[in-house]
Amino acid sequence: MEPISQGVTISGSGKDDLYLTGNGGFLLCPTPTGKIFTREQLNAEQLEMGKMVKNFIESKVLTKKKEIEYKQVEIDGMPLCVKLLKELGNLGALGVDVPETYGGLGMDLTTTMHVAENLGPAGGSFTTTAIVQMGIGALPILFFGTPEQKAQYLPKLVSAEWVACYALTEAGSGSDALSGKTTAVLDGDFYTLNGNKQFISNGDWADLAIVFARIDDQYSALIVELNSPGVSRGLEEEKMGIQGSSTTALMFDNVKVPRKNLLGKAGDAATIALNILNMGRLELGFACIGATRKVIQHTLEYTKQRKQFGRPICEFDMQTGRLAEMVTRLFAVDSILYRIIHAIDDKIAMLPKDDQYWDNMVKVIRSHAMEASVAKVEGSEMVFQISSDAVKMHGGYGYISDYHVEQALRDSVINMIYEGTNDINRLVIFDFLVRSIYNQNIPFAAFSEEVDASWRKGIFSFPDNSPILHEERKSLYAGKYLLNFLVNETIMRFGKDIKNNQQVMRHISDMILPLYAADSAIARAYTLIEKEHSEAKIAKAMAELCLAQALATTQTLAWQLMAEIYEGKPKAAGYGKLTWLCSFMKSNHNPMRLKREIGRTVVEKGLKILSL
Ligand SMILES: Cc1cc2nc3c(=O)[nH]c(=O)nc-3n(C[C@H](O)[C@H](O)[C@H](O)COP(=O)(O)OP(=O)(O)OC[C@H]3O[C@@H](n4cnc5c(N)ncnc54)[C@H](O)[C@@H]3O)c2cc1C
Repeated sequence: MEPISQGVTISGSGKDDLYLTGNGGFLLCPTPTGKIFTREQLNAEQLEMGKMVKNFIESKVLTKKKEIEYKQVEIDGMPLCVKLLKELGNLGALGVDVPETYGGLGMDLTTTMHVAENLGPAGGSFTTTAIVQMGIGALPILFFGTPEQKAQYLPKLVSAEWVACYALTEAGSGSDALSGKTTAVLDGDFYTLNGNKQFISNGDWADLAIVFARIDDQYSALIVELNSPGVSRGLEEEKMGIQGSSTTALMFDNVKVPRKNLLGKAGDAATIALNILNMGRLELGFACIGATRKVIQHTLEYTKQRKQFGRPICEFDMQTGRLAEMVTRLFAVDSILYRIIHAIDDKIAMLPKDDQYWDNMVKVIRSHAMEASVAKVEGSEMVFQISSDAVKMHGGYGYISDYHVEQALRDSVINMIYEGTNDINRLVIFDFLVRSIYNQNIPFAAFSEEVDASWRKGIFSFPDNSPILHEERKSLYAGKYLLNFLVNETIMRFGKDIKNNQQVMRHISDMILPLYAADSAIARAYTLIEKEHSEAKIAKAMAELCLAQALATTQTLAWQLMAEIYEGKPKAAGYGKLTWLCSFMKSNHNPMRLKREIGRTVVEKGLKILSL
């Protein structure tokens, strides 16, 4: 099996920096204290970029939301969405991570993702258009293109002089993304491209496509200029949401593509497609943060002014609790996302700027593939769940199109489908963890020994004395013991046969998701408490609530998992170990009291708490 973090060294020998390694390393160490990057640490330049995009979205995009949605308006002979994309390109926001030589700003990925976050509130249509342009449209060329390809195409994509799209999916090839049937046959200096692509975002508007096609049965990627003879586009799909975005089929009938437009080598499709998806998943996760914040903002305002039974809706205990759940989830997912992207940036900053720079950058990002899938699933399910709750909290008005939340809910669904469905991402999370274990990218075996030794001695000790959130970090560490135990039991019980037991894989992934959320929320709250931040109290309450939910979820899933692993063995010894481990996974907090405290604070202070 190919090592998944080639070229990326896991530094250090102890647990201290495991939370930084990617590959699921966070599962093997106590919650990092005072070390992870959080949004509070964004610098002035990064904040300035975010503010510029926010202002653009508020003044230019949200004011034209309906026109964008119904695709009724054309300006200067182009759809409004495209016109606005070009304006955003002129501001530099579409090439934040592209080197200045190619027309970009040459900034880090954290800044790029902060821009993606600020695109999120635009509504799904414009966000999709822009994220495809700056992400899966341009990044294949940035990461895998030759210097000539970069010089030829990147400046045009960064300015949005040309619109880009990414054509991987085919009618018979969706989740099984590398099984496409499109072909490219080399004849002299040209490939002849034949085949059809399905559901391509920006499809009707794009000037350039990254097209995946088979060259002598080697799946490959080509840069295709869409004004070439033989290219045609299907009708716009009528969709549940993101109705103002373009989604069409692309048809290629004997299209001549210059040989020099091959990306990488013949057969590189898997490397290109899967690595670009990692970045796409992170960008999507960040956009979901921005979209969620807007939904909560609307819900907060609405429930403060709408009265029933003589009281504002937000004051009813159930709704106060819902508001608390919303902001707590946003706090946790936000903490996950900034933590991951900055860990990636830190590693990229250490790479030598030599010929291997882009290859090494891809490897660094790939070493966080599991975390990228966590980010995608957490972000997309957060915005869907919160939009759904927001509609309910608006009552009948939530069902009416004039209110933001109606469209937000419809727009949120697609996030769970593209960039790999969330179910596929759950399989990816499990798969990457197991690969990391087998390839020894993380010291999983050493951690297993620690768990076993602890069980044999009957002592569970937590290797950290700091009093800040001590009990919480200890309980969460027991949760990581539990996961370690269950992963080992799963591997022993099923071995390679695990591929036939996806429900088990899903359960493991569904345990990893809340563990990572709680780990990130607690790590962030720790830092804020240590620094005596003005919002430390509310951050602590949110971390405690997040932990209580994570402990409850993981224990429920653990018992279900054991029933499958020990099917027919009701007296298996593992049940004793499970009971023992669960006895340390205690939350001393009353979640309802926490929700009241958080909900009331949010009603009083608004979302400016913790820059949410
Ligand atoms: C609005 C929109 C925009 C899009 N934009 C683009 C784009 O720009 N470029 C592009 O290339 N594609 C794009 N897509 C395609 C999108 O990425 C795919 O729709 C998605 O990957 C799922 O593929 P599918 O629709 O064929 O579903 P299927 O693969 O048929 O999946 C159906 C269901 O089965 C599940 N499933 C599939 N395989 C497995 C498995 N092995 N194990 C367990 N469950 C499984 C899936 O999770 C899903 O729940 C877009 C789609 C839409 C709707």
